[in-house]
Amino acid sequence: MDRRRFMSRPLAGGIALGSAAALQQPPTAYGQSSDLPSKFTPGAYTVPKSENSVGLTPDYFTYAEDLVIERNRPGKPHQGKVLAAVQAHSDDITLFCAGTVAKLIDEGYTGYLIRLSNDEKAGKTVGHGVVQNEIDNREAAKELGCKKAFSFYYRNHRMDDCAAIEIRQRLIFLFRLLQVNTVFLMDPYDHYDENPDHLVVGRAVEAACWMASPGGGREYPEQLKAGLKPANVREKYYHARAPQGHNLVNRVVDISSYIDQKVRANIANKGKGPAGDAGLRLRRELAMQGKRLPMLGNDDDTANFQYVKNFVMDDFRVFGHQFGLGYAEAFRYVGPEPSFQGRIRKYADANAVPL
Ligand SMILES: [Zn+2]
Repeated sequence: MDRRRFMSRPLAGGIALGSAAALQQPPTAYGQSSDLPSKFTPGAYTVPKSENSVGLTPDYFTYAEDLVIERNRPGKPHQGKVLAAVQAHSDDITLFCAGTVAKLIDEGYTGYLIRLSNDEKAGKTVGHGVVQNEIDNREAAKELGCKKAFSFYYRNHRMDDCAAIEIRQRLIFLFRLLQVNTVFLMDPYDHYDENPDHLVVGRAVEAACWMASPGGGREYPEQLKAGLKPANVREKYYHARAPQGHNLVNRVVDISSYIDQKVRANIANKGKGPAGDAGLRLRRELAMQGKRLPMLGNDDDTANFQYVKNFVMDDFRVFGHQFGLGYAEAFRYVGPEPSFQGRIRKYADANAVPL
């Protein structure tokens, strides 16, 4: 059964209260009918889907009242800063937040793409999955403008059987080595995520940010004695996973200028995901039937590009449209924490009196 269509239509047979309430209720912002009685304020908002949706935005978002739209910034305001885009699988970053990663790198960040699984479940065979996704991770990193790609090669879909502290330690080492300031990670508090790797990786990244910091001097002190410096990870972009998700969103990033780069990063994912060579496969399939789809153009590269942009990325266009943007990605953003010690010192300096 199509779960989404089932949820958006009135219940079969009609529940008296629900039906009556629906008559009193205007349609939701996105035109769906709602049986929510008027005494309730919605706690989550339906994320509208493209007609061609491949399910890359979650069913629901909850929006924070201080939501910020992050737009293009001129020049290189992030020069000297380092970001790590961390993913369980080779398509997590490319599908859900590649536009923002590309934007920040273009605005001056040095970027690294870090994949934690070996993606063995995503190939013609287990062995093929490992090899193809290793290539894809590297190629996607290049398309995003990353300086380097890393892979930890934990077994795909079995990461909840790995030692959490080992994963965390490896991340702390890399964050210190690369002097990471900003991370991208999948929200480990995403409700209803079925994939065990996502939750494990999200939690490990989150803890590693804190433990790699200057305040974590007693965490793996041998790393510091060997010459590594603490990492100042002060910004975190948590992205949602779809379609089951329900996430808190306080930042919407305008990726309109970077959508083509996001498309190319997803074409680089040949081993898995809805993008890769799907366009050329459809073009060839139609040709076997003596047909062609004008939208897919006259060659394989154009077919791949147009397929990914018009089908796979279309949910991000529909999502952005709500905010007056061409294409957008959504995040729970955690920024630098203010220094309470500085504030107290300032208060002490202003108010201290002679003994
Ligand atoms: Zn994944």
